[in-house]
Amino acid sequence: LYVEHPLGQGQSVPLDRDQAHYLFGVMRQKVGAELALFNGVDGEWRARVDQAGKRGGELTCVEQTRPLQMPPDLWLLFAPIKKARTDFIVEKAAEMGAARILPVQTEFTNSERIRQDRLQAHAVEAAEQCGGTYVPEVCDLQRLDRLLADWPEDRQLVFCDEAEVGAGKALSEAARDKGDKWAILIGPEGGFSEVERKRLHALPFAHVISLGPRILRADTAAVAAMTIWQQHLGD
Ligand code: SAM
Repeated sequence: LYVEHPLGQGQSVPLDRDQAHYLFGVMRQKVGAELALFNGVDGEWRARVDQAGKRGGELTCVEQTRPLQMPPDLWLLFAPIKKARTDFIVEKAAEMGAARILPVQTEFTNSERIRQDRLQAHAVEAAEQCGGTYVPEVCDLQRLDRLLADWPEDRQLVFCDEAEVGAGKALSEAARDKGDKWAILIGPEGGFSEVERKRLHALPFAHVISLGPRILRADTAAVAAMTIWQQHLGD
């Protein structure tokens, strides 16, 4: 169970109404039951139910069962698309161990805003489901040009360019000996504009890659790019 509360030896953890409903109503847990807790910071803890009510409850941390396991330092930048597909991208990125998820607005991005809180909740659920102890931060929508203007110089960017089909370098070749801070950039349904593409090609920290001869949908491309990155550079 994910909680937004510090975890530590003997620490009491209050539960809100929704958590109490899930734990005591849906999962039928009772006082004395033990379960695994994590908060994305303090690792995983075995905790005991001390109070169980309809509107809340209380747990006590008994012992740490796993330390915090940080994922590789990979960011996923993607242009939000339709709601269900955006949800899919966030869920899969969290499952695959992205450290940070950054929705970006490109020239051909249709969405003007995102529900950051909803997407963050998807990331929490994905971390819960795959037994992670870390939850990636989902940032608010920001403009790609502004983000690139402020880019940390020690972070490499894998630019997935559909126009490179057949001509792009393999990631293994592009990324040799380039450090361990990475980001992947996936464009929107309409792809990148020529201006954006030119700018991205000229950036010293960008590595342009192709994901193969077919043009993939953005959600497929995100999963494919993360898989390739994991294989060559991830743990
Ligand atoms: N509308 C564009 C077109 O028809 O040329 C396609 C955009 S594609 C649906 C969305 C994004 O997925 C692209 O901007 C790119 O980042 C990524 N992508 C899809 N297929 C790719 C490929 N074969 N190689 C590299 N990137 C790809």
